Amino acid sequence: MVEPRTPIKTWSSTKHEPSKRTDVHNLIRGMLEKELKIPAEPHKPIISLGLGEPTKANGYELPAVINEAIIEQIQKETVNGYTASSGMIEARKAIVEKFSHPDYPFTINDVVLAFGCSGALYNAISVLCETGDTLLVPRPGFPLALPIAENLGINLKYYDLLPEQNWEIDLDSLRAQADDRTKAILVNNPSNPCGSCFSKKHQLEIIAVADELKIPLIADEVYHGLVYEDDAEFTSFGNLTKDVPVICTGAISKIYALPGWRLGWTIVYNNQGYFDKVNENLHKHAMIQLHPTSLVQGALPRILKEVTPADMQTMKDKLRESSRYAFEKLSGIRGITPLRANAAMYMMVRIDTKEFKDIEDDVQFCQKLLNEQCCLVFPSTCFFAKNFFRVVICTSKANIDEFAARTTEFCAAHYKSDQ
Ligand SMILES: *Cc1c(COP(=O)(O)O)cnc(C)c1O
Repeated sequence: MVEPRTPIKTWSSTKHEPSKRTDVHNLIRGMLEKELKIPAEPHKPIISLGLGEPTKANGYELPAVINEAIIEQIQKETVNGYTASSGMIEARKAIVEKFSHPDYPFTINDVVLAFGCSGALYNAISVLCETGDTLLVPRPGFPLALPIAENLGINLKYYDLLPEQNWEIDLDSLRAQADDRTKAILVNNPSNPCGSCFSKKHQLEIIAVADELKIPLIADEVYHGLVYEDDAEFTSFGNLTKDVPVICTGAISKIYALPGWRLGWTIVYNNQGYFDKVNENLHKHAMIQLHPTSLVQGALPRILKEVTPADMQTMKDKLRESSRYAFEKLSGIRGITPLRANAAMYMMVRIDTKEFKDIEDDVQFCQKLLNEQCCLVFPSTCFFAKNFFRVVICTSKANIDEFAARTTEFCAAHYKSDQ
């Protein structure tokens, strides 16, 4: 029996507290409010290699068809209504046509649209994990897993990536983290923050471990196909197994440079029918918030069909050029070591704290770099790992030059004197 409510005499913030469930932490946003608060009156222009946005300001023009596709939707008078809660058939069909492989097919019933890849991850994790369950995530990895886990009451456990092996997964650490309540392994390929892409051989090893442990994969493939060096080849996790059930998440945010349009999706690779019920619940779960905006859904078929490989190549060429340039410019600065990247939009730089007299860790490094040199980059602590910082490479050469020059000066001011 629930007692009848005793009258509360006054409104107050202590009596009207928000749910603990919503006291969540996004480490990047958190740093921006505290350690990495941008000075209100910086003593020189801020150089930000912090947040990854391939926008016009950074030299990334959208293919014309993208704007045409959305304008066409606005001109149709039928697109202001609700769509099916899992998304329009035409939009989901376009995803099937674009991504379904004849040997690893999926249908529109395996696709649910979401609010960006973030929404897709939230949906996938919600459906696979019960409160109190465990989700395995990469370290370093994309910070969003933390607020999602806090919100859903899920425990995160971290498996390590190996910087010296092009950020492959340390499979022993993956095995060691799995427990009886582990409901999914989150993998992210190509990787944010590492700027790396797994080889097919390594993906098969990961799948073998998932199969051995009987734990399904959630594959965050928001950088689907975004590899720019010859030694990197992208294969979707969905196209590599007929035994392990996989949920792939994707979006138009990064590969089509449309992060603000908030359209993503889950694709269920329902191998052997193991995910019949999971798939059903993904569709049910979509009824909570309903679908992403109908205009963008309506434009999706043209975006997926008419943005050409040549358009994608232009983006990759730019990324390759600035990645190599950043690597070269940041090499040879004592105390920091860039790690070569070949995918996505990022590069990790190792910090050797022993070289510095007054820098204890990556957070201090980035904090002092911001305050003294007005350069913004995120410490790897934001990605659950220690003693690296992440550089966003979708930026101009001039920005990279300035960043490198200021970082050189910054390091020089903090070296231990060599006696
Ligand atoms: C940007 C990003 C996301 C979120 O993408 P949205 O579509 O903007 O929600 C998810 N995962 C990774 C690894 C990302 O880098």
